[in-house]
Amino acid sequence: MTKLLDGNMLATEIRSEISHTLEKEILNKNKRIPHLGIILTGNNRSSITYVNNKIKECKNIGIKYSLIHLPVNTLEKKLLEEIKKMNQNPYIDGFIVQFPLEKHINQDKVILTINPTKDVDGFHPENFGKMALDMKAFFPATALGILTILDKYKIKISGKHTVIIGRSKIVGRPISILMSRRNHPGNSTVTLTHSKTPNIEYYTKQADIIIVAVGKPGFLKGKMIKEGSIIIDVGINNYEKKILGDVDFDSVNGKASYLTPVPGGIGPMTRVMLLKNTLIAALNNR
Ligand code: NAP
Repeated sequence: MTKLLDGNMLATEIRSEISHTLEKEILNKNKRIPHLGIILTGNNRSSITYVNNKIKECKNIGIKYSLIHLPVNTLEKKLLEEIKKMNQNPYIDGFIVQFPLEKHINQDKVILTINPTKDVDGFHPENFGKMALDMKAFFPATALGILTILDKYKIKISGKHTVIIGRSKIVGRPISILMSRRNHPGNSTVTLTHSKTPNIEYYTKQADIIIVAVGKPGFLKGKMIKEGSIIIDVGINNYEKKILGDVDFDSVNGKASYLTPVPGGIGPMTRVMLLKNTLIAALNNR
């Protein structure tokens, strides 16, 4: 039987942990409420939905937010100016720039302009490098959400073989670093696969844990996994007015031992981890 890993339930638990710390360390000590900045460019519908969900989370927990929504075709120079304003604003504890950006904007320049101490998405090379060196840093929210869901369900990852499908900067690459780190949770043996990997099935059939982040609905099929493996589905794909993951749920369900559903798996964990990072940024600041 496959057990579904309930991201909604865990996110609720983590929200109450955040609220508890907020009350104990900030409100009871009359300190300033944490404040998240969000910069959104253009009118990509998915990005607007993601930002609205993040705002909803802030309101739920009682974290302040400021949204800067820049129109389509905003010049790179203007976006960089807004980032610098967030860097300098003493009331903003941490902020994010919602990706993807329009093609004329250089994503690397944007990431490099963010002050690493306010980089609650954990994309700046200073945070990314510290993560790779097992140092304290902001970790990207989705990777942190995956680690947390595995840990909270007491799924042992140390010594296990993890196969990751997808090597993006925001999901695949960071989770490959964190799963293999010399720390808890970590110590997994990691194989990182991507679009140039021939015969992905050869790797997935040997995996104890598979993390799929490719952006292709139903990519991972039951016949590609071994009996009893643990499957983490990161994909969020709009398909015929439905949200589908990267895992073919029907063929994997029953063969895997654990599976994260879509929706209700890694998505809510990601959102709540951003708030956890914002709270940490605020505590670092006070
Ligand atoms: P991305 O930047 O487009 O990266 C996709 C990765 O998949 C790339 O590394 C690509 O390889 C690889 N890939 C593509 N086709 C492949 C194939 N046929 N075989 C093996 N690898 C293949 O995507 P992303 O930003 O990581 O997002 C992936 C999915 O996760 C999307 O559905 C996205 O919406 C979702 N997502 C969900 C959350 C959440 O909170 N749940 C957060 C972020 C993203 P190359 O590097 O060779 O091109």
